Amino acid sequence: MDTTVEAKRYKRSRQRERILDTLRRTDSHPTAAWIYDELKRDFPDLSLGTVYRNLNILHDQGLVRVLQSGSTFDRFDADTSVHYHFVCQACGKVEDVAFPLPHDLDERASAMLGRVVTGHRLDFFGLCNPCSSAESADPVETGKL
Ligand code: ZN
Ligand code: MN
Repeated sequence: MDTTVEAKRYKRSRQRERILDTLRRTDSHPTAAWIYDELKRDFPDLSLGTVYRNLNILHDQGLVRVLQSGSTFDRFDADTSVHYHFVCQACGKVEDVAFPLPHDLDERASAMLGRVVTGHRLDFFGLCNPCSSAESADPVETGKL
């Protein structure tokens, strides 16, 4: 019975609404653990597993984007519009990049490859500004050595 459309209709949940709300109020592309930390005061019964389960439901509903940007833990983005990310290889910070790629990139790739293209993935990697200045600074002065 769970294979029918019925299974896609989730009961409204206050926890899930707060998870989405928390995600919409940050542009830091947080992990599930970060969201859990934000909400555990208000929801003492909340578990990290519940946060994950609700994030998966929100993803199913098309309200949340899951980012697999090369780090161990998935990060989540409530901005589901087409945009790209810059990932800092030192601190793992994920920033939005409004990179002007053609809006019909998938169609162009379809035409070129002669097969159906359903999507694409693009991440930029490098050092964020703070990490980049930390790297160029005197390591003794910055207390890193
Ligand atoms: Zn960084
Ligand atoms: Mn984003």
